[in-house]
Amino acid sequence: ADMAMYAAKAAGKGQFHFYQSHLSDRLILRVNKEQALRQAIERDEFVLHYQPRVDTLSGKLSSMEALVRWMHPEHGLLPPLEFIQVAEDTGLITKLGEMVIEKACAQIGQWQAQGLPVVPVSINVSALQLNNGSVERMLADCMARHGIDASLIGIELTESSMFSDAGMVSGELDAVRSLGVKLLVDDFGTGYSSLSQLQQLDVDVLKVDRAFTHRLCEGSEGKALFKAIVSMADALDLRIVAEGVETAEQLDALQSLGCDEVQGYLVSHAVPAADMPGLMQKRFLFPPSFDLSEAAA
Ligand code: C2E
Ligand code: MG
Ligand code: MG
Ligand code: MG
Repeated sequence: ADMAMYAAKAAGKGQFHFYQSHLSDRLILRVNKEQALRQAIERDEFVLHYQPRVDTLSGKLSSMEALVRWMHPEHGLLPPLEFIQVAEDTGLITKLGEMVIEKACAQIGQWQAQGLPVVPVSINVSALQLNNGSVERMLADCMARHGIDASLIGIELTESSMFSDAGMVSGELDAVRSLGVKLLVDDFGTGYSSLSQLQQLDVDVLKVDRAFTHRLCEGSEGKALFKAIVSMADALDLRIVAEGVETAEQLDALQSLGCDEVQGYLVSHAVPAADMPGLMQKRFLFPPSFDLSEAAA
């Protein structure tokens, strides 16, 4: 900031005033957001919502994703877009990420205690959390305290955080894998992971970015692209989830391509934990051979 102000000062007086106030506004905004976030963490103002994923053919709930929301005392429920970046920039993501892991495990434990047919829950983890090397310890501790089997937990990482050169990250990921926790690549196709990297890290699931889902029904190219991803996943023995499925037409295409699971507004938005038990027994979509006239008969 000193350098910038010095440069602005050298460029002329008027500009100096403009630049200075611009800078300090941004600084104040950032400091305010950081303070608000820090306080929110102390006051435990975060909740997890859960978005169902269903088996593409049977329409049965197969797994779900935990998505964090901030219950802001004035502004209501805020989506991650409003605070994750600040949390990452300030390092608060470590604490927030630990809270997310704790909350997800506590919730699974509670559903189990209620005798519900719980399916695996995947938790979003940011690169910074991995770098700190606390993810494995946190997961192991939470699973033990809440009596949860590792098969019920997955972590979602973007390609860039999973395949950064830092050996620390892959060491931490190996440790997580050896707990029995699954590894999901989030927003797949937006980064640059190679086949050998996917194999080396022993990834379990590719979550294909919603951009590819949306291109599915916009001409033959979109379909061909998705098909290529599916056959690559088959070769590596990975499961495929399509993100952002919004239309019946997209679902239809995904069923014929052999995509394993779908997630998106067509199936369900993310819902509060209290709504999940009702969704655990529900059948979401019609299987492709399901005939409505038969059902009526
Ligand atoms: P993501 O992990 O890729 O999660 C999917 C996002 O897409 C969610 O937004 C979800 O609500 C939204 N979505 C689901 N279905 C559809 C659909 O059919 N169409 C469209 N257009 N969108 C759909 P959300 O909940 O706002 O989360 C945004 C991002 O914030 C997540 O993207 C994830 O990267 C991040 N995030 C969420 N929770 C956490 C967390 O606990 N920790 C960290 N580090 N990041 C998180
Ligand atoms: Mg995700
Ligand atoms: Mg995603
Ligand atoms: Mg396969």
